[in-house]
Order: sequence, then structure tokens, then C-alpha cells
Amino acid sequence: MAIAETRAWVEVDLDALRANYDTVERAAGTAMLPMVKADAYGVGAAGVVRTLEPRGPWGYGVATAGEGAALRRLGVTRPVLVLSPLPLRDVARAAAARLTASVSSLDGLDAWRAAALDAGAALDFHVDVDTGMGRSGFDWRDVGAWGPAVAERSGSGPDPVAGLRWTGAFTHFHSADVRDPSASVRQWERFRDTLVQLPVPVEQLLVHASASGAALRWREYGLDAVRPGIFLYGGDPAPGLADVPAPAPVVAVRSRLVLVKDVPAGSTVGYGATHTAAGPERWGTLGIGYGDGLPRVLGNRGEALVRGRRVPIVGRISMDLTTVRLDDVPEAGRDERVTLIGRDGQELITIDDIAGQVGTIGYEILTGLSPRLPRVECSTEESETG
Ligand SMILES: *Cc1c(COP(=O)(O)O)cnc(C)c1O
Repeated sequence: MAIAETRAWVEVDLDALRANYDTVERAAGTAMLPMVKADAYGVGAAGVVRTLEPRGPWGYGVATAGEGAALRRLGVTRPVLVLSPLPLRDVARAAAARLTASVSSLDGLDAWRAAALDAGAALDFHVDVDTGMGRSGFDWRDVGAWGPAVAERSGSGPDPVAGLRWTGAFTHFHSADVRDPSASVRQWERFRDTLVQLPVPVEQLLVHASASGAALRWREYGLDAVRPGIFLYGGDPAPGLADVPAPAPVVAVRSRLVLVKDVPAGSTVGYGATHTAAGPERWGTLGIGYGDGLPRVLGNRGEALVRGRRVPIVGRISMDLTTVRLDDVPEAGRDERVTLIGRDGQELITIDDIAGQVGTIGYEILTGLSPRLPRVECSTEESETG
């Protein structure tokens, strides 16, 4: 037992990560730009990058200058693309780390150029094209105005003008998680129309559009690279696709029974005393709570796995503790390992199962796992047998 596996921890199965990467790469048949923002969705960017480097991705995607700089400190030399607009205060930091900016406005491009001149280096950027996502990007309808302005500031290809290299263009689908393709077709047509109007040869640009969902569902939009995130980490953005295996679970959340007790009828548990024992019951207290990222709404609704069996969570979840009923697993004792997310024997609770119960998406469950939970790397075999 690793020292980290005390009251609660996150197990990270790097074999599963590798398998999911291969699934996306095979489906998309194009270069890979894995997204490792938010510490690789909470999985841990260091382990993810170490695992994926030998696969030879084109580069990595992040959301912030700090995340990109952290990749450089890990020794990453490939391109690191920041997909969110940079606040002005972060531009110099991004330049110092030789990140690739995504540009959504001419003043953003001017700031990037100023940073390049300050840094005395040629800096890369990709143009973000807004085809309906709305949160970032140049408006696809106005390419006749911004296209020439961007080209004028940066030259028209890999030769840097005034410290800037325009090396890519991308868009982002807003509805790749639904079966109906019409919204994505519309965005695709807008993007295509924008590309042909750019005053630079498109062949000089890395053109990309698809995150996990589109990469698996709409392979005709694979272009020069795809940007998968959630699928790599075990979340399924396109469930039920006939020719794509479900993602292998990458993350397991485990904790230990820190107390077991037999209670008489009428006993109550948790804040608000929302569960009352109808008869004699056995309760087990787990060393995990909402302060660890276990959603509080799972109180009286969620389940845990003990010795390969499902047991119900009773009462409200506290910040540090959660109580389960152990009547069906009487042999479980103190320090027993209990699974909140992941596999135990034949049973499996996925992040998407939890998200469904909570009314959110797997992304939020994963990124919500608190730094309080140590991340412990393991292999698929270890994760399945515990
Ligand atoms: C987060 C993000 C992705 C990855 O999305 P997934 O659905 O997790 O695969 C790709 N592109 C952009 C612009 C993103 O912000």
C-alpha cells in the first residue's frame, strides 16, 4: 500500500489513458493535440504527459499561461497551444514559456506581437474562428475584415514578420455531444467558408476543429489535428457509437472505512438527520466528503462499492465524511477499501454514472476532484483487482 492510500485517494490508470489515446487516434486518423488543461482534467498533467510523450502527439492544449509554463517545466518541447484568450497580464508569461497563443481579436494579436518583440523571439499563434460558440474567436462573418488585418501583422506564412508566425486556425463545435449533426454541419460550413477567404495559404496552417465528441462522431472534420480531452480521461462524450469502444476508466476514487458501527432502530445520521434506521442497521463511515469533490447531492442517493458489492450512501455527505449502509457486506471492517468511482470486482461506477445522478457532466466531476485527494498511479491490472 502506498503511503498516499490512507483515508481517500484518486487512482490513475495510465494504461487506460494510453488505450483511450490510441482509440481516438485510430478513429480520427490525424495528428493529436491532447488537451491537458485543468491539470489534465484533474488526472494530473505530469503523469499524463509522461505517458503520452512516447506516442508523439503534435503538441498539447492548455487553457492558461500558467498551465503552459508548467508543461515547459516538465520538459515539454512540443508546441503548447493556449486555447483560451489570454488576459493581458499573462501575455508576457506565455511568451516567456514560448507558448502558442490563440488569437481572437486584433488587440490580442497586437499584445502578442509586443510580447514577441520584448522577448526577442518569433512567437506562434493560431487564429480562433467563432462559428457559433460565441465565447472566443474572430466572428466567421467578418473574415473579410480581420483576415487581411491578421495577415498584415504577421506576414503570410511561416516566415515571421515582426516576431509573429501565423501557424494555425481552428474552431470549436458547441453540440458535438448530440446525435443530430445539423448544428455541427452549420459550424463546419462556416469554418470552411472562412478558411477559403483567409489571405494566406491554408496548407501553411495547422487546421483543427474537433474535440473528443466530434473526433469520434464526425471524422470528416478531423482535418490536420484533433483536440481530445475527456475521452482520454475516461469520460464518454459520444456514448453508443457502434464502431468506437467506450473509454477505459482512467480514474478511480477510493476511500477507507474509518469507523463501523451497529445502530438500533431510530438512530439518525448526518446533518439534518435525513436518514433514520428503520431497524437495526450497520453503518460504515468513509474518510471522504464533499471537500474531496464527492458531490454532496449524492447523499441518500449515491452508492459505493465494497468487496465488489453496491451499498447505499445514507444521510447527507459532510465535508470530510460519508456514511454507507453495510448490512449487505457484514464482513467489511475498519480500513476496508471502498470505491466511490471506478471498478471493484464485477461492479463499476463511471464518472458519467455519477454525473447523471448529480445532473451534470463527467467533466465537472473529474475536474472537481479536490487536490486533497492524492493521485496514485497504477496499471489496469492493479485497478481491476485492487
Ligand atoms: C476543452 C477543450 C477541448 C477538449 O474537449 P473534450 O470535449 O474534453 O474532448 C477541445 N478544444 C477546446 C477549445 C477546448 O476548450
